Amino acid sequence: MELRELGGTGLRVSAVGFGASPLGNVFGDVPRDAARAAVRRALDLGVNFFDTSPYYGGTVSESVLGDCLRHAAVPRDQFVVATKCGRYKDEGFDFSAARVTRSIDESLARLGLDYIDILHAHDIEFTNLDQIVNETIPALQKIKESGKARFIGITGLPLSIYPYVLDRVPPGSVDVILSYCHFGINDTSLVDLLPYLKSKGVGVITASPLAMGLLTDSGPPEWHPAPEQLKSACRAAAEHCSKKGKNIAKLAMQYSLMNNEISTVLVGMNSSKQVEENVAAALELSASGIDEELLHEVEAILEPVKNVTWPSGIEQS
Ligand code: NAD
Repeated sequence: MELRELGGTGLRVSAVGFGASPLGNVFGDVPRDAARAAVRRALDLGVNFFDTSPYYGGTVSESVLGDCLRHAAVPRDQFVVATKCGRYKDEGFDFSAARVTRSIDESLARLGLDYIDILHAHDIEFTNLDQIVNETIPALQKIKESGKARFIGITGLPLSIYPYVLDRVPPGSVDVILSYCHFGINDTSLVDLLPYLKSKGVGVITASPLAMGLLTDSGPPEWHPAPEQLKSACRAAAEHCSKKGKNIAKLAMQYSLMNNEISTVLVGMNSSKQVEENVAAALELSASGIDEELLHEVEAILEPVKNVTWPSGIEQS
């Protein structure tokens, strides 16, 4: 598995990253054996980056990922773990210094780790961004100084949140950003922001290459926030691939992996089979490139919904 530098962190992360939200049962129940096998298989195949959050499954994802990593018994310096703070299933959003400072201790306990590699403020568009700048990031800096987290990140859907925060915090205080659903076949809007992020020395993680299930044969979960127009276009694209005996998830995974300026592509996985498929997609891409003909056909089907997204967060003043 290809390793890529993550901005200026010195971390080398696998191009395919393990999104652990499914381990919180958010896409359906995952038996513990399947979760352990998926994490074990990922590590064996060279996937070294794992992403979770206290929000996923109301802390279940963190606890299960911690259990799976312990079970795999891999030395701590062989894997990179990111978790988040500020978003909770029962409490909603709380980016206060007090809450995020407590949050890291809770996450460390659930994960059974002494330190987290990356601690993100999770979905920051749901608070006033000035709070992130003036209160949350300084609190995260203190956590970093304490050694409980090695690097600091911010996540969220609207791309405008990134320059807003990065232009207002001291240089170097945000190490990475995690953007989702903006670098895949149907939505490539993150590309326009890459030169800016590079100029700020910030590492780039992209998530949800399958558009949270839209670009799969089985389709998205009930709660998926996309407008119907986008859902139906993705359904048509998946059916087109199916009719040709091809798999849209593989094409979508490969598409997101093609940009080397993005360090890692986080894909949500709940079984060894999915791990094997996604790693195989990456290896095949390196060996023989993407299926250009299929890609053009799928891009044509998705053209009417190109970069269509959905609202997220509060109105910023
Ligand atoms: P995704 O696009 O990765 O899709 C996940 C879905 O696709 C799951 O149902 C999974 O079982 C299925 N899947 C995975 N591999 C497959 C394959 N080969 N064939 C068919 N189906 C397959 O969406 P996601 O899980 O939401 O995103 C990936 C990860 O990124 C998350 O788990 C999370 O860690 C992270 N993420 C973070 C944020 C944030 O910080 N705000 C937002 C979204 C995602």
